[in-house]
Amino acid sequence: MSVDFTSDFFMTIDGQLIDSGRHIDVINPATENVIARVPDSSLEQLNEAVAAARRAFPSWAQTTLTDRQGLVRLISEKLLENLEPFAQLLTREQGKTLDYARWEIGGSAAWFAEFAKMAPSETIIEDTPEHLVKIRHVPIGVAGAIVPWNFPVLMAVWKLAPALIAGNTVVLKPSPFTPLTTLKLGELISQILPPGVLNVVSGGDELGPWISAHPDIDKVAFTGSTATGRRVMESASRNLKRLTLELGGNDAAIVLPDVDIEDTAQKLFWGAFSNSGQFCVAIKRLFIHETIYDQLSQAIVKYARTVKVGDGTATDSQLGPIQNLSQFERLKNLLTDIHENGQKILLGGEVPEGQGYFFPLTIIDNPPDDSRIVAEEQFGPILPLLKYRTIDEAVERANASAHGLGGSVWGKDVHQAEAIASRLQAGKVWVNEIHVVTPYTPFGGHKQSGLGVENGSDGLHEYTNAQTLSIRR
Ligand code: NAD
Repeated sequence: MSVDFTSDFFMTIDGQLIDSGRHIDVINPATENVIARVPDSSLEQLNEAVAAARRAFPSWAQTTLTDRQGLVRLISEKLLENLEPFAQLLTREQGKTLDYARWEIGGSAAWFAEFAKMAPSETIIEDTPEHLVKIRHVPIGVAGAIVPWNFPVLMAVWKLAPALIAGNTVVLKPSPFTPLTTLKLGELISQILPPGVLNVVSGGDELGPWISAHPDIDKVAFTGSTATGRRVMESASRNLKRLTLELGGNDAAIVLPDVDIEDTAQKLFWGAFSNSGQFCVAIKRLFIHETIYDQLSQAIVKYARTVKVGDGTATDSQLGPIQNLSQFERLKNLLTDIHENGQKILLGGEVPEGQGYFFPLTIIDNPPDDSRIVAEEQFGPILPLLKYRTIDEAVERANASAHGLGGSVWGKDVHQAEAIASRLQAGKVWVNEIHVVTPYTPFGGHKQSGLGVENGSDGLHEYTNAQTLSIRR
């Protein structure tokens, strides 16, 4: 059981490696060189993938839970055995440093392993000599999984693992910017699962809409921007697909006056700039109490100056480039707006000439709440620092967003911090830590950051239909 990392890239349809008549170039964002080309699926090929998933569904749904758990555990083991080549490939297509890439592949393997211990619930509601009533959770059918480019493998695994454990078959689509690691993952998994249980298709802008509108796909699990999520929801309505939407965020962090400045500065920096800010739950608005604003701002800027941005394959790089040209251009456009509105820049602000989509770590000093850098999701390494006076004001401003993905509160008095955190309108809220996510805890957005959750038993049940079974004895 092995994957040839030197070969071309193929889709996996019905257990076969499939090319297409058309192709898409994949670019390394650190060099701007084309590093591979991948199949650009036609509608007919997507239809074949969906038909294969449909054919495979009845017998896969009938396998025992123990068998499915065993196969998902085996996927985890084989992914771990191939961790290094998967990580190397991920860095080349995504840009993130090798350490981050190893973390993502290792984390994906861990996710498969932990989901392999889970089971959809069956609850007995009534059990008398006359009457038995139980609630079962049965698989939905064919699940379409649509994934973004920031954590291409982990976001795919968050969908695959629960879908497979629950007994669904899957058609998985990576982002056109980062399809390589996912296509190789498809090759690996096709050696473990029966044909048709997992199909991986790659393609351009048409493929996602074909999936979300496909009459023979029963559920779509989508991670991406809120704008695209709306379109997915609209087209999914045609056959009333079940939906999980993990969308954009504009997460606030609120820093209380009693924090340890140096220690918190570093944690806040990584909370905002990990993965070069291309993180759905990155700190995107940092509210600092006015009494420590200057001191903490200086400490964050001082620390940020020590962080090296470069090619993810270089051992001294701590952060990589922006993943793709269109996001790079979007960030440059935000920077132009910052310059044009005369906002004060504490760090960065000038994009270097040269190859690669390298964007400087940029920190903005107290821009107005209605400025674009505060009101919009930046999804990159630009962080606005915002000064507040009272807790009520900070909470109100933090919640004044259509998004509600994550949030955090930082302070020595944990009870006070918890009371503030519980007032944040967001699906994932941390106190004195950030980005702690587990396979056992639901992850999802409030408001326009999403619909439903991933992970935990709630996330697993999103790949099932509830069935009440009522038996008159
Ligand atoms: P995107 O919405 O542009 O694309 C996401 C995926 O959807 C890609 O695979 C894309 O090809 C596909 N797609 C594009 N148009 C489609 C359509 N009309 N129908 C169906 N599919 C379509 O997002 P992106 O730029 O890849 O990712 C960045 C966004 O993702 C950010 O807003 C970020 O916050 C969000 N995100 C959210 C989470 C979360 O868990 N909530 C995690 C990571 C990223």
